[in-house]
Amino acid sequence: MLGKQLYWPRGRLLGGSSNINGMVVTRGDKHNYDRWRDAGCSGWGYEDVLPIFKRIEKFRNKGNASRGTKGPIDVMEIAHKDILSEAFMHACSDIDIPIADDYNGGNYEGAHYAQMSQTNAKRCSTEVGYLRGARRRPNLTVVTRALVEKLTIKNDQVRGLKYLEFDSSGHPGNAHEVTVSGEVILSAGAIGSPMILERSGVGKAELLEERGIKAITDLPGVGENLQDHLNVRTTYECTKPITVNDLFTKRAFAIRSGIQYFVLRRGLMTTPTITCFAHVKTDHELETPDLKLGIAHVSGKDRFAMADGLGVDTFSGFGLTAFQLHPQSRGSVHIRTSDPFHTPEIYANYLQSEVDQRAVVTGLELCRDLAAQKPFRRLIKREVRPGTSISNYESLLNYARECGNTCWHPVGTCKMGQDSRSVVDTELRVHGISGLRVADAAVLPTLVSSNTNMPAIMVGERCADFILNK
Ligand SMILES: Cc1cc2nc3c(=O)[nH]c(=O)nc-3n(C[C@H](O)[C@H](O)[C@H](O)COP(=O)(O)OP(=O)(O)OC[C@H]3O[C@@H](n4cnc5c(N)ncnc54)[C@H](O)[C@@H]3O)c2cc1C
Repeated sequence: MLGKQLYWPRGRLLGGSSNINGMVVTRGDKHNYDRWRDAGCSGWGYEDVLPIFKRIEKFRNKGNASRGTKGPIDVMEIAHKDILSEAFMHACSDIDIPIADDYNGGNYEGAHYAQMSQTNAKRCSTEVGYLRGARRRPNLTVVTRALVEKLTIKNDQVRGLKYLEFDSSGHPGNAHEVTVSGEVILSAGAIGSPMILERSGVGKAELLEERGIKAITDLPGVGENLQDHLNVRTTYECTKPITVNDLFTKRAFAIRSGIQYFVLRRGLMTTPTITCFAHVKTDHELETPDLKLGIAHVSGKDRFAMADGLGVDTFSGFGLTAFQLHPQSRGSVHIRTSDPFHTPEIYANYLQSEVDQRAVVTGLELCRDLAAQKPFRRLIKREVRPGTSISNYESLLNYARECGNTCWHPVGTCKMGQDSRSVVDTELRVHGISGLRVADAAVLPTLVSSNTNMPAIMVGERCADFILNK
């Protein structure tokens, strides 16, 4: 990645990253789960997890028997379908990508409009769907503005945890200790959970000792096996002022879009900039799709508008995006020190594998294929990035390294399994420690075929069943 440092935001609030994410709902290909089961995670095959996915959602559109209608998380098809989205769908058809009627209903391969965790086009996070109702329960106390420092473990049994409180201006205040008689469930996410384990003395002994922490349990898999989807994209100047870029430069369009959103719950502002995707096989021999394509109604040199000069382009712009669904490269996340205020060392290790390198180049070529189709012709003034001079394998790969960015899908850093690199067993119990489970995206042994929010919620639901002994 040319030595680049990338920005990896996480949701540090109730509901976690489900409160800042793109709201795209994807369960993933059923083969993902069957592969987990076949690799030793018994009870996690597709037939096992399907009832859980059904129980999570209240799907507002028409769906088959595999969709849920009574769950806490509202799911609806995206509320914005414009000419750019239509062009994407038609261009997919033109290059023989099938149209999937319901990609969460068993028909995973193909192009589709996104399904969103939204209620009437407003975010339905886990805080909205689960916590709001539950907070009235007398047996639940929610402590906010708290940073867990570490777990207290004696004789390989979790006894409680230590946390620090912040005041309303974010300054650290009192330290607290909580003792437990039951279990502790760690759900700090794929970055936070391994950090808390390591600060508590659970992790690779050598690494912990280097950081001045006494190892209680030598679990070399903690913080390893980090996986993320790497997003790459081609960018186009659009002939029509209908993109997110235009919200910043065209007052009338911004006002109209604002009214559409606030009054009608429709329009560009209901989207996370992306409206449609396609799960595609780059080789017909493959059992399952290996790439995801999408259309983003925004363009900029960087995927985020974070740095000066790298924000949203000043012209009407959109992007065609691609990411490899099952990257082979593996990274790591580890604490730098025992201080809970210190950021971790995250090494994503994108594109380390040659298979992954070929996949991103194929992804960029497919984006260009789509752009060249008739439905896009009247919408594209020019290709802005990478630019027509970038066309051979090496230059496209170099461009992927330059423009590639996180899809915000880190998983796998406390992976479930039975091998020596696994951290939790199939009931999410941490190996070698009693009274401790991990229930978040960290336990996914491999990336699911695409977005990770629904799978993370599914893990939480399963954990509840394990605790209740269901
Ligand atoms: C910008 C962005 C966009 C995304 N878009 C999508 C999308 O469109 N669709 C999709 O399916 N997925 C998306 N994702 C991914 C998805 O949101 C995550 O996979 C999912 O939220 C992971 O859930 P989790 O419980 O594992 O972790 P998180 O949701 O990150 O929750 C971890 C929680 O633990 C807390 N925590 C961490 N450390 C500590 C500590 N030491 N003390 C106290 N609390 C702590 C955090 O504050 C947070 O509340 C996106 C993520 C991001 C960041």
